[in-house]
Amino acid sequence: MDAQRIDTIVETHDLPTYRRQQLLHAFFTENCATFDDVTTLSKSLRTSIDLPAMTVRKRRLLVSNEGNAFKALVELDDGKLIETVLLEPKPGLWSCCISSQVGCLMKCSFCATGRLGFTRHLTSEEITDQVLFWRQYIRAEGLEANLRNVVYMGMGEPFHNKDAVFASLRELTNPETFNIGARSISVSTSGLVPAIEEFTDQFPQINLAVSLHAATDELRQHLMPVNKPYPLEKLRAAMDYYVDNTNRKLFIEYIMLDGENDQPAHAEKLVQYIRGMARPHLAHVNLIVYNPTDAGHRESPRAIARAFMAILKDNGLSATIRKNLGRDINGACGQLALKGQV
Ligand code: SAH
Ligand code: SF4
Repeated sequence: MDAQRIDTIVETHDLPTYRRQQLLHAFFTENCATFDDVTTLSKSLRTSIDLPAMTVRKRRLLVSNEGNAFKALVELDDGKLIETVLLEPKPGLWSCCISSQVGCLMKCSFCATGRLGFTRHLTSEEITDQVLFWRQYIRAEGLEANLRNVVYMGMGEPFHNKDAVFASLRELTNPETFNIGARSISVSTSGLVPAIEEFTDQFPQINLAVSLHAATDELRQHLMPVNKPYPLEKLRAAMDYYVDNTNRKLFIEYIMLDGENDQPAHAEKLVQYIRGMARPHLAHVNLIVYNPTDAGHRESPRAIARAFMAILKDNGLSATIRKNLGRDINGACGQLALKGQV
């Protein structure tokens, strides 16, 4: 459901303008899930609409032991499956983590989605429907939640599906539909340089996270094949472009992999790399605890991660270790792989 679908219905059924407003209200304020739920429409009109309201349908839903992470396996119109996640990282702060592709082409060695390979791009509506899906879930379960934060950190590389992702960002910030503040939306990329620049030009208020994970080309290339076409120096220029044009903080994601990228020498390289940015004080490093996948890496011990963070901070950089939610339901970063569910 998006503004375009409502416009199609209004045109096909030759409805007056107030019907359009009723439909917008029903789906984007009341969180109705089907046309049948829209009681402001007459019964005959409701049944005459032969389009489904949603492009995603629930196949299975898991709730974490702590009750603060929810993962749904949802089916698309062509039967393909994706996962989408709802998180409550702090009491009362709700966020959903949405997918942009079925699978992913980027083949990062540590990521379960990357191991699936790429199947297809999602449409803009399939992307934004994941947000509606969670709003409907919140309503149906009677949860005390106001879902106003969206992160593009589910399955897929958002900038590989740039057109649909950009359209979905316009829809999420559209005052007529989702009306979500640009500053409450974050897009994470493995580093597709040209798209970072386009994104900056078009969405300067939306948060950007760059998945770095290593600060030397050799190591990064080993972990992330995307480093070959877009090596670190080019990536840094794109990050500078974002920071220069937006004056906003840029998030750098760095997974801690035991013995691979977590040693003091790696931290020093990261410091050097970030200091080479035009405005290093606007970079914030999120150290991510590695979530187990079948990929063969191991998570860094806590003490090693803390020592790594201390080196960054001693050098004047801003850094935090990101809390992991949803590991028990394989709903944490990089674990989305439709495991055992299909
Ligand atoms: N494709 C985009 C966004 C989705 S991945 C990207 O790569 O940025 C979201 C985040 O999860 C990225 O920072 C990614 O590197 C990280 N990630 C992938 N696999 C992970 C794993 N096994 N453990 C922890 N984080 C992981
Ligand atoms: Fe794709 Fe991101 Fe996973 Fe890399 S980390 S394979 S870019 S989803």
